[in-house]
Amino acid sequence: MDPTNVPLTSCPHCGAQIPETAAFCPGCGRPMQTETRAQGTVGALRENIAGALAYLTFIPAIVFLVLEPYNKNRFVRFHSVQCLLLWGAAILLAIALKLASVVLFIIPVLGPLLVLLVSTVVGLAAVVIWLVLVVKAFQGEMFKLPMLGDLAGQYAGSI
Ligand SMILES: [Zn+2]
Repeated sequence: MDPTNVPLTSCPHCGAQIPETAAFCPGCGRPMQTETRAQGTVGALRENIAGALAYLTFIPAIVFLVLEPYNKNRFVRFHSVQCLLLWGAAILLAIALKLASVVLFIIPVLGPLLVLLVSTVVGLAAVVIWLVLVVKAFQGEMFKLPMLGDLAGQYAGSI
């Protein structure tokens, strides 16, 4: 790689702009954390593969949270918990939509149309979110969803 064109990152300690590849921050001299990208292995799997697998339904996520050594791995724990929280949110949203549709179906023509439109938009959004999560995990990133991601991060950190 061209040394003048190394991607920059900011130091988590002092905020200085430093090359992504630096082992130590030139600003404050502290070692850089390289935990943002999972590159190790856990059990028989690579961390990023396990993280992406966690999002295939909810079964692998539960297995990862119960089974050693997967449940001791921060990256895998994070994605497993985020997956389960996402399922929880999706189920609540589905119930809310169902209840709303019961009311909306009273309105002729416009009601059922509105239900169809909202269901389609929510369904497409869910597919997009799911794809982003799988790809990000596969790339070794701890990609956090709003709110859910912070909860998952807290749980993942508390081993
Ligand atoms: Zn620094």
